[in-house]
Amino acid sequence: MITLGLTGGIGSGKTTVAAVFQSLGVPVFNSDEEAKACYIDDSELKLALEQHFGHEIFNEHGELHKEILASRVFGNEAQLRILNNLVHPAVARRFNAWKLNQKSPIVMKEAAILFESGANNQTDYNILVSAPVEMRIERIVKRNGWSKEEILKRMSWQWPEEKIRSLCDYEIVNDGRLILPQIVKVHEDILRSANS
Ligand code: ATP
Repeated sequence: MITLGLTGGIGSGKTTVAAVFQSLGVPVFNSDEEAKACYIDDSELKLALEQHFGHEIFNEHGELHKEILASRVFGNEAQLRILNNLVHPAVARRFNAWKLNQKSPIVMKEAAILFESGANNQTDYNILVSAPVEMRIERIVKRNGWSKEEILKRMSWQWPEEKIRSLCDYEIVNDGRLILPQIVKVHEDILRSANS
């Protein structure tokens, strides 16, 4: 089984591209969504979070108080690093468990911070989805209604596109040109590798 990593800046179109791969029969693991699920049902992660950040981050039903956890790490790089060092392995564990249930020769891990989080350790080939910054801002304003400042702040949390590009094996350019032929080409190439 070949594992593809799919990454790209905020608003580049990762989820859009992932949906096309899915329609070609490639099961997709969405790391952002799965990270949220880890906070709900990964008991190992929840115990570690409670031990480090205090039991008050969970309510009496064991549900996370996101605001309390966020206030613990906001503006505190050391605490944020600790949180990431607990969450990223939890997502990795979840991915491994998910993968065991997949039958397809190719699976995909979509992650906004594929390299930043070390999730690329679990992938064989990596794909960058790229788009010009202005276009990405426009899409996010339209989708989320966020201010330009908020979007630029979030962009600054990710590595620069050139750095990600240098680490990727393929690139899907989502700047208004057709993405389907680009995706089909990458898919065929990977399928050849999977069958060889
Ligand atoms: P994020 O990192 O914020 O989750 P993303 O990289 O997954 O973003 P998408 O959610 O796929 O990006 O796309 C961002 C927005 O831009 C969505 O509303 C999507 O519908 C829109 N979009 C993506 N690609 C295109 C395109 N080629 N043409 C028009 N709109 C697009």
